[in-house]
Amino acid sequence: MSAQRVYLSTTIPYVNSRPHLGHTLELVQADVLARHHRRIGDEVRLQSGTDDNSLKNVLAAEREGISTRELVNRNASAFAVLRDDLSLSVDDFIRTSSDPRHRPGVERLWRACAANGDLYRKAYQGLYCVGCEQFYAETELAAGKCPDHGTPVELVAEENWFFRLSRYAGTLAELISTGKLRIEPASRRNEVLGFIAGGLEDFSASRSVQRARGWGIGVPDDPSQVIYVWWDALGNYITSLNAGAPAPRDADYQHWWVNADRRVHLVGKGVLRFHAVYWPAILLSAGQPLPTEVFVHDYLTADGGKISKSAPTGTPDSTDPARLSHRYGPDAVRWWLLRDVPRAGDTDFTVAKLITRANEDLANGLGNLISRVVSLAHSYRDGAVRPCRRPDGTSRWLAAAADPRDARAAAIPAVLADPGTDALPDWPDDAASLREAIERTPAAVATALARFDFRAAASAVFQIVEQANRYVDATEPWHLGRAERAGDVAAGERLDRVLGALVTACQVLAAEIWPFLPDLAARIAAACGDCGGRLPKPVPVFPRIELASTSLPRPQYPALAAGPSGRQNPALAASLPSARRPRRLDSAPGREKASEVTACRVNQP
Ligand SMILES: [Zn+2]
Repeated sequence: MSAQRVYLSTTIPYVNSRPHLGHTLELVQADVLARHHRRIGDEVRLQSGTDDNSLKNVLAAEREGISTRELVNRNASAFAVLRDDLSLSVDDFIRTSSDPRHRPGVERLWRACAANGDLYRKAYQGLYCVGCEQFYAETELAAGKCPDHGTPVELVAEENWFFRLSRYAGTLAELISTGKLRIEPASRRNEVLGFIAGGLEDFSASRSVQRARGWGIGVPDDPSQVIYVWWDALGNYITSLNAGAPAPRDADYQHWWVNADRRVHLVGKGVLRFHAVYWPAILLSAGQPLPTEVFVHDYLTADGGKISKSAPTGTPDSTDPARLSHRYGPDAVRWWLLRDVPRAGDTDFTVAKLITRANEDLANGLGNLISRVVSLAHSYRDGAVRPCRRPDGTSRWLAAAADPRDARAAAIPAVLADPGTDALPDWPDDAASLREAIERTPAAVATALARFDFRAAASAVFQIVEQANRYVDATEPWHLGRAERAGDVAAGERLDRVLGALVTACQVLAAEIWPFLPDLAARIAAACGDCGGRLPKPVPVFPRIELASTSLPRPQYPALAAGPSGRQNPALAASLPSARRPRRLDSAPGREKASEVTACRVNQP
């Protein structure tokens, strides 16, 4: 398939509190998609951000006795630094209260819908939940209270601007049922179609300035009203691209939205209606292309309790993603989210589950494999192993693994660059299962990710680890090494082939696991990369996490290894967690230069 242009977005959470683990699922899923598509040569833009204009932020600031601006700035930066904490390759991070692109973009979108006759003023009275920021019909309430929050609703009477949603019911139903607007999983598509079939009513698209506490984006030409926060927030997906600005200022919009092959929103189930009904209708009204796909994930719970709508005062340590990442590393957090969370259904999180998963897969399975292979190579070949020819279909993946957003992973392509495969030996016959697992992986990952099945994709990559460990157990290279030392020449030749297959498998593994665990991938690449024909001394790539007490330990990382040139191995150094550097994300995104981390190959004669 030829290269595609893919626009990916996460939702923008409101920032009435710090981020919790529930927010990270979507971020990590989106990052995997972004890295996967970049690696296969697609052109990708990944956007995230924060919804600063929510009334909930105003109320949270009132409770704390600080200004709304102060509260949103503080909490939005806690979201922005997740980019570092979780190794996210985000291209753009938009904050709706301060990004200079947002307000004019929302105003242009509003005017486009107004010009199409879809915004009108109407006196209105309704039952309103501040927590949800939406009106409910009496029949939707649970014992007179918000069905979601269980809190009393307010009777609100005022004159508002309404959006003519009813006009788009037929078009939306057709676009969704024909898959032109694809909603995944199918159960969510059916839910939306059922909602549309039940009849769409026009919705209130503004609030009085008083009820909005003066916070938010004013309705163009109507100083008494503020644009409904959902209308405002949904617009972020295109205001960041300067949608509606006169050419050539709208070049990003033309490039990344109008002319993209795929426009993909990742959203939680609680905001399905907004993304699959309201937002497409607004775009239809404005005469703009719709998203092509909406992927809906379910929620995480923590220790059996709800975390997706946590108390506004903060989050417990055990569900604070920054703390989890600082303690266990981004690899452990990402791996749990990817490997343990199914495509549909809520998933319960505990720290013990995260540790168990990391220890079983990353320390025992993967870490043990790398450690065995590198140690064997040093015990019997002084680190010099001739790899096998890379299986078909993998070399291009390796070459495209570089990502300028991500200094830590930039080591991979140089270490693993395809050294002219024709000159390398074929795979030994007894490694057929391992070779097949490697050959199957790219297609299996692509298929799983095309249906947003992150668990299946992670599991497909992990097949390489499992087959490689089986191959070690089956061939027992240490016996071959001892036989060779006792004079068995054939055993020595066999050992060459076995180690060649294993080192190649580890190198391919680094590239294949990169979208899922970019930091660990860089450490694998550093450990198994071909540095002037000799592997670096063995260093654990993922030490076991000990759960000795309830006070959570810091993760232990290997000491910096010296590279073959005597300098610090830059790939490994870059992969280690540095002091957390707060990075400004509310302006144009900074892009790291990959050139410094071109790994050991360049140091060799
Ligand atoms: Zn509510």
